[in-house]
Amino acid sequence: MPKCPKCEKEVYFAERVTSMGKDWHRSCLKCEKCGKTLTSGGHSEHEGKPYCNHPCYSAMFGPKGFGRGGAESHTFK
Ligand SMILES: [Zn+2]
Ligand SMILES: [Zn+2]
Repeated sequence: MPKCPKCEKEVYFAERVTSMGKDWHRSCLKCEKCGKTLTSGGHSEHEGKPYCNHPCYSAMFGPKGFGRGGAESHTFK
């Protein structure tokens, strides 16, 4: 039985979602930052932790100043 990388408990088939090459509980595969539930293949990861593509991953690791949703440029030079 695979163990969930988040809570380290066994993952049963019915609640299993495979992402990043690991088996997670459906409810454990969520964004590390905002807690949004993620779907397999529908998210990003950083250092083995899942993040939602938007806004968290793009805000933290994406190219700066590329925001959708009208964050005016607060770039400090
Ligand atoms: Zn879990
Ligand atoms: Zn997020």
